[in-house]
Amino acid sequence: MSGVFELRTTDAAGRIGKLAVPRSGVTVETPALMPVVNPHVRTIAPSRLESEFGAEILITNGYILSQSDDLREAALSVGLHDLLDFSGAIMTDSGSFQLAEYGEIDVTTPEILEFQYEIGADIGTPIDIPTPPDAGRDQAERELSTTQDRLERARTVETGEMLVNAPVQGSTYPDLRENAGRHARGTGLAVFPVGAAVPLLNAYRYDDVIEIVTAAKRGLGAGAPVHLFGAGHPMMFALAVAAGCDLFDSAAYALYARDDRYLTVRGTEQLADLDYLPCECPICVAHTPGELRALSDDERERHLAEHNLHVSFAELRRIKQAIRRGNLLELVEARARGHPAMLDGYRALLDHADRLERSDPASKDAFFHLSAESARRPEVRRHHDRLERLAPAGHVLLTEGGENSQYDESWRVVPPFGPFPRHLSETYPLTAEVPERTDRESYEAAASGITRLAESNPDIAFTLAHRGWPASALDRVPDRVSVVPLESMDEYDRDDQTGQ
Ligand SMILES: [Zn+2]
Repeated sequence: MSGVFELRTTDAAGRIGKLAVPRSGVTVETPALMPVVNPHVRTIAPSRLESEFGAEILITNGYILSQSDDLREAALSVGLHDLLDFSGAIMTDSGSFQLAEYGEIDVTTPEILEFQYEIGADIGTPIDIPTPPDAGRDQAERELSTTQDRLERARTVETGEMLVNAPVQGSTYPDLRENAGRHARGTGLAVFPVGAAVPLLNAYRYDDVIEIVTAAKRGLGAGAPVHLFGAGHPMMFALAVAAGCDLFDSAAYALYARDDRYLTVRGTEQLADLDYLPCECPICVAHTPGELRALSDDERERHLAEHNLHVSFAELRRIKQAIRRGNLLELVEARARGHPAMLDGYRALLDHADRLERSDPASKDAFFHLSAESARRPEVRRHHDRLERLAPAGHVLLTEGGENSQYDESWRVVPPFGPFPRHLSETYPLTAEVPERTDRESYEAAASGITRLAESNPDIAFTLAHRGWPASALDRVPDRVSVVPLESMDEYDRDDQTGQ
């Protein structure tokens, strides 16, 4: 069922969207976190997830319900919303996880979809095969083919207004993920989980997570709602959203709590190691670590689960606000400083700056240059593309100093963007806040901009007047551009340090 997802605001490949869930008549704002509710173990009551944490959607396991003697009949008679006491949208999983864990399950795709429909699920899931990372190519292709057959069957099952997931598999093969995305989109099913990411997430292989998401999205197209299945750690939400993920599911809030693990946006802490609680949630404001440790096992687990949920929902609110403000990548940069694997993930994302650039808005509040990675942001790339369309005339000075009447035109040069005519100084992203002590990558990016300008204007003479650029950047400047240190220019040219 297409047409249920509407994009509102974008930043990088991240977006705020609206997922209409017709069966329960609710609209879920994305990016959204779906707490995983184990039908047997309700660490936090679903009604509290809704009223206290703002959960608009949750996920529970349709397969476990179907196999449970006590819950199956209850789910069929009163329906899932009454059974769980939750009025938002409910997604159900199919047992694919159990299939991956235990090797076999006792149900077919039409049977489990019909069951999910009968118990009142809003979004159901067929049984796909989650091929693990680094599987052999033959296995990945064979299992993907089986998954695709099941998606074809799924679309023939009568499921009324229930939306149906079309999982995207393909192991760590980008071309298979892309083909899987294209096929899944072609089924006309509604929501698109990128599957089998959990082993990558558990191994902190965030760069590989970005590669499979990006590949899947190449096939799915920008308009498809994407669920990064199994991603529940708030430290990577910003990165995954910036890559274009819309839905997350957290079993982590409860599973980590059971092991006395305390989630933060920078990683995971053991409660035993904490002398202070670095968080503003109601649990952490009201307790010391020692008080939490002194609670009974059940109470401690519930308290930690609540903290874990507060942190996770707060991070999603922060992400949505960043999308609105247009500084999502600055949030990702901050998160990338929390763990080296996150930095790998951010760098992998920037490898796809060309794709990010397509959805990145042309104008935002401000560009903060915060790290060497900032030089690879889509805004820099877009400026370099724009340089090919500008028309310099005569002998053009590209300078970090003021205007110089000896040249026909004096353009400004600002790392990492490179050159631009002065009249563009007040346009985004050239209004950027750039550190005084910038980095080598930033100068190199500016030099690449000069190259783009020189190559697209072969008949124009250029001179670069720079303030102590490193050799690695100057080496990138084409030979036909004259290079002079700014301090060697005439005295009257050095007055204006602001370049205005
Ligand atoms: Zn807290």
